[in-house]
Amino acid sequence: MIASSTVISEGSVLRDEVTGARSRGLSVGFVPTMGALHAGHEALIARSAAAHDLTVVSIFVNPSQFNDPADLAAYPRSEEADIARATAAGAGICFVPDVGEIYPNGQAPTVRIRGPLTETLEGAGRGSSHFDGVCTVLSVLFSVASPDVAYFGAKDAQQLQVVRRMVADLRLPLRIEAVETVRDSDGLALSSRNERLAPADRAAALSLSRSLATVGRAILDGAMADAAAASEMGLDLLRQAGCEPEYFAAVDPESFEQDPAPGPSTLLLCAARVGEVRLIDNMTTQFAAQTGYGFDREREES
Ligand code: AMP
Repeated sequence: MIASSTVISEGSVLRDEVTGARSRGLSVGFVPTMGALHAGHEALIARSAAAHDLTVVSIFVNPSQFNDPADLAAYPRSEEADIARATAAGAGICFVPDVGEIYPNGQAPTVRIRGPLTETLEGAGRGSSHFDGVCTVLSVLFSVASPDVAYFGAKDAQQLQVVRRMVADLRLPLRIEAVETVRDSDGLALSSRNERLAPADRAAALSLSRSLATVGRAILDGAMADAAAASEMGLDLLRQAGCEPEYFAAVDPESFEQDPAPGPSTLLLCAARVGEVRLIDNMTTQFAAQTGYGFDREREES
């Protein structure tokens, strides 16, 4: 049997559908995406579908979170295939609004969280308005989809923490659940942007997960004096692999401030350009200890 889902492009129609479902006692899970769906997105949708009667997946490339028009223009779009994929993974409704539906007056009132959580790392690299765009579009989407639970990937660790903060501070009536990063078997974190990698750049792209794993293990081995040393080692590894690193950081996973004493719960994050493509990845030092992805492991095994 081929599963089918309802495709909706108007927020008011989505709201009516979800309100109707909830009035019948059904629980609603929500997975916001920007499309170009891959197995990472599918994991979020499957998690929601396993826990809820109805799963809503939104597919919307949000212009207000891009600071670079070229990056927005190059973002992959594949709506029909995305709807089929979301449906197969368990979506009951695909919400595919256009820009005018989300921002009928040109721009919604902006939701802005200030401080290190939004102003460092991705907030610094992609411009301070990046997380304003993320929070603003999610405010609109949460309002029209009114889910019980929304699912986010740990792949975008800083975004996940920003969303948790927004939901807590605005007392929004939903819960946020995190889903582990889905990776290729060699360790590369799945990303819609991987499609744009030239075949020759894949080895360099792999250096993100490898450098995170290598630095994580060095921290746990006690070989790293502080976060600055961890950052330096990570940046060196990325450069040696042919990437152009933007940041490599060892932070406290709640505040996203540099961790003064890196240890098992430290979160390591990096962003780098590989050819024309900007990639990000992260892992805790604890996770790094368990993986076989690092440069050090490769040397040990060869
Ligand atoms: P995006 O379409 O890139 O905005 O991502 C939509 C959601 O999918 C976000 O919550 C991402 O964190 C999540 N996501 C993207 N890549 C992965 C991945 N490799 N594993 C798990 N979740 C992911």
